[in-house]
Amino acid sequence: MVLIDGKKVSIEIRNRLAEETQELKKKTGKIPGLATVLVGDDPASAVYVRNKNKTCLELGYQSFEKKLSSDISETQLLQLIKELNSNEDVHGILVQLPLPDQIDSEKILQAIDPDKDVDGFHPINVGRLVVGNALLTPCTPTGIIELLDHYGIEISGKHAVIMGRSNIVGKPVSMLLLQRNATITICHSRTKNLEEVTRCADILVAAVGRANFVTAEMVSEDTVVIDVGINRVDGKLTGDVDFEPVSKKASHITPVPGGVGPMTIALLMENTLKAFKKSIEEES
Ligand code: NAP
Repeated sequence: MVLIDGKKVSIEIRNRLAEETQELKKKTGKIPGLATVLVGDDPASAVYVRNKNKTCLELGYQSFEKKLSSDISETQLLQLIKELNSNEDVHGILVQLPLPDQIDSEKILQAIDPDKDVDGFHPINVGRLVVGNALLTPCTPTGIIELLDHYGIEISGKHAVIMGRSNIVGKPVSMLLLQRNATITICHSRTKNLEEVTRCADILVAAVGRANFVTAEMVSEDTVVIDVGINRVDGKLTGDVDFEPVSKKASHITPVPGGVGPMTIALLMENTLKAFKKSIEEES
């Protein structure tokens, strides 16, 4: 069994991005800028945003931190997005979800300029992903593809079974795998005979949000198992896969923590650099 080390791969990506940023700075005098928008004081969201801002600075990007109180109105937030859309130093905009109840998240995500939508959630980018010509694709799913590539795991012709159909993980990772010529099956809470389906997988992606949900009985020998889940059990981070028994059958497996998680932030930074490069190309 090969343990897929997302932490190591994400550090390699970050180093590459930092180098490229330095080169572009020398050539253009400009650096990528990422704006993070945090509404309210949810501790988990605050940690995520802090890490994103810290990573920006480590890579030589400019970080624009927007912290707003939880009682901000939808109109005020839309106004901020409008300002960030027109700020030429901002190449990526990330609105940390979830947003408070008085704000329609869909409306906010749709207000972001698709060229600055580094999360890849704008309907225009979702459409581009489906058509197969997206520049900015969602970070966690793209990170999964990069991990498979890094470990030389063949995707073309393989049967990929995706557990979960969310807009953030399940659907986009399915589209990316399909683009790479996998045969895909998407499972969800109404899927019948789940075990039978998951046992057919060459590549199994678990994005269910339930700790240790995927048992050894659900996995065939030599399956590549990608665990997207982040669940807290007794204060400890736990994936969707029952790691010990499943790892005895898998050919490759991602641990939690240290698997898919670190890739998400690295891919956010990669998307910001892509958006920056596109803006430079358009200027010249
Ligand atoms: P989500 O929106 O809650 O979606 C969960 C999916 O799992 C749904 O499609 C649901 O089906 C399906 N599901 C639930 N119970 C099931 C069952 N018994 N059998 C089969 N399918 C079932 O979650 P998400 O946003 O995709 O996230 C999934 C997990 O990944 C969470 O633990 C989350 O924290 C984690 N995550 C990690 C990262 C990272 O950076 N590593 C990023 C994003 C998310 P229905 O559609 O029928 O309800």
